[in-house]
Amino acid sequence: MRAAIYARVSRDARKQGRSVAEQVEECTAWAEREGWDVVEVIDETGSASRYARSTGARQRWGELVALVASGRIEVLLTWEHSRALRTLEDYTDLRNLCSKHGVAWGYTGTLYDMTKRDARFRTGLDALLAEDESARTSDRLRRNVRSRAAAGHPHGKLPYGYRREYDATTGALLRQVPDDPRVVDGEEVAGTAPLAREIIERVGHGETLYRIAQDLTLRGVPLPRPARTRHDKAAWLPTTVKRIASNPAYVGLRVHRGEVVGQASWAALVDEATWERAQAALEQMGRGRPRVDRSVKWLLSGIARCGACGGPMIHHVNRGSSTYLCKYCMGVTRVQEPVDELVIDRLLQVLAHLDNEPATDRPSPELTAAVDELAALRARRESFIDQAADGSIAPATLAKVEAKLRPRIEEKERLVRTLRRPSVLSGLDLSDPRALWERLDIGQRRSLLAATLEVTIQPAGRGRRIFDPTLIEVLPAGSARG
Ligand SMILES: [Zn+2]
Repeated sequence: MRAAIYARVSRDARKQGRSVAEQVEECTAWAEREGWDVVEVIDETGSASRYARSTGARQRWGELVALVASGRIEVLLTWEHSRALRTLEDYTDLRNLCSKHGVAWGYTGTLYDMTKRDARFRTGLDALLAEDESARTSDRLRRNVRSRAAAGHPHGKLPYGYRREYDATTGALLRQVPDDPRVVDGEEVAGTAPLAREIIERVGHGETLYRIAQDLTLRGVPLPRPARTRHDKAAWLPTTVKRIASNPAYVGLRVHRGEVVGQASWAALVDEATWERAQAALEQMGRGRPRVDRSVKWLLSGIARCGACGGPMIHHVNRGSSTYLCKYCMGVTRVQEPVDELVIDRLLQVLAHLDNEPATDRPSPELTAAVDELAALRARRESFIDQAADGSIAPATLAKVEAKLRPRIEEKERLVRTLRRPSVLSGLDLSDPRALWERLDIGQRRSLLAATLEVTIQPAGRGRRIFDPTLIEVLPAGSARG
């Protein structure tokens, strides 16, 4: 059989591919093994001009098309699918020509008879996958694979709450284990693991980062890192607390460049539910929900919204009477007491209703199923990454698998997070909402209210003296924002 070889420099700067000469060499060796005659080598060495490079101009693509159409060859060999083609249009042209003239197309070790439907399907699929998104995916994975292959062990910064064990004679890293309390040389060592657990749990329970940091400082808990100078105040910072609470290492997940790449070789410090709860709490902090200022005395100040401009309603004393006033437009105002009464009334109704709902903390069957499915998907990705790391599958294959698995994993992660959204209501006895309300201080009442309801005060006509309850809009929290 007569064969032709087409080689070109790929546009991308991955530096992973072979040079044109190497491509030709590999394809020639392939032809030799099969006993094909190489009648033509078309290589795009690429013009040195900036214009040609930036447009990816191919001087000899036309020659290739003419050659396939001439009927002089039966086989066309290229190094890699994405290296032979620039666009889907190129693929379509080449496919149609090969199909019409009975030319088989070979790349990455497989020869495709382009007159066959399944060969057209397979090569078409490769053409789609070779498009930009897939290239980026495979780049990312190559880096992951490299880092895994190189490390094989925990590496990088030691997460707070863990310690590393080294071989006494060789000094080689053996493993990373939770820094739990233990006895060393007859002395008790407290370890940092309980503190890391405490931080994640407290964040999950909705404590502010600031408060946790302040508490750790007051208790004299040593910082994760030693003070840099003698004047370096040994104070915990909210950002330090956040960094710990958001590190997936604590749930036994390995992270590479900010992305979870698989299960870690070390034990988790907290269970997945605890960790997810902390993530949900952090997410909520970052979402810029109306911050509840616990020092405020007025129930709805900063929580109720203005129906005219959407601004926050704040407390305001107007000629001796207590009111709420829009902080932004100052055009909407309402007497404070009846508004509070109405809103409390609605809140208690909602709470009584919630008492009949299943407790949010009990793992629902959906949640259990979602967690299992997520674990299975991660395990599948893990096994493919392992296979790629030891070379039993090509990075390109891994890229394809990853491209399919990633959206499914992300979707499941979102679902698990949603199902686990922590509730300020968890742990509260809702059987008698009125009694519960009486027990709460103003700060707790405001937190509960902000988490449960959205209150909007609609403008009233000029000179309206009588309180109109229909102008106070009370909706379940989250319904307006979606
Ligand atoms: Zn307003």
